[in-house]
Amino acid sequence: MPNSTDQDPNLQDPARLNQLRQSVEQSVGNIKVKALHALTQGQAPRAGEEGAGGAPSHYPVQWIQELHSQVDLLAQTAQLSTGAFACKEGCTSCCHARVEVTPPEVFAIANYLAAEQEDRRPVFISRLVSRSAAPAPESHWSTRPACALLVDNRCSVYPVRPAACRKGHSYDAQACKADQAELPLHYGFVLGAEVWMAGVAQGYEAAGFQSPILELCDALLKVLQNPQMQSDWLEGRSVF
Ligand code: SF4
Repeated sequence: MPNSTDQDPNLQDPARLNQLRQSVEQSVGNIKVKALHALTQGQAPRAGEEGAGGAPSHYPVQWIQELHSQVDLLAQTAQLSTGAFACKEGCTSCCHARVEVTPPEVFAIANYLAAEQEDRRPVFISRLVSRSAAPAPESHWSTRPACALLVDNRCSVYPVRPAACRKGHSYDAQACKADQAELPLHYGFVLGAEVWMAGVAQGYEAAGFQSPILELCDALLKVLQNPQMQSDWLEGRSVF
């Protein structure tokens, strides 16, 4: 069974709770420093490389893979300790929820859609426009509009899906289908993933890259309709 912070007696103790808060803040700070270092040391293009002599390097967009690798690693570690999550291909209730992302995640998805053998951006602009006109969310997940990147019950951008999607999990697929408010989760994994997400977002800000929390479909539509946004963001401008 998953770890549950609700059942941890240490978390009923204010002193232990304060210790945990301090430890989380310290971990977020450490990850921020790591991200800042990577983004400031790694972004300068060398002569002859992409970005040399004009266009900005895409390194800050590519570096978001580090966050995704870390969240995937945390998920693997959690499953080794408590058993496999119930999540399977074709199980899509999470893809009907609001997905929060940061700018490099949106740009990575836009680049992935453009880099395929067939440029899929026009198709997805059309899907995103249709979704933005969808009716207001209903109560049950199955009546909420799905993410526009979900096609035939599969994620169209799975290799570059955001950290929020990688963090989504459950030990009970039936509870997801029933839209239960309380799902059986691995709270240690959730906390670890959120620490990484917060630290990395702060690292981007500290390195001079705007890093607001965005809603995936809204932000992706803007970026696909205006490719210049990515270059402007890479040059340190506020574009969202
Ligand atoms: S990006 Fe992929 S995994 Fe995430 S909500 Fe959209 S379809 Fe689902």
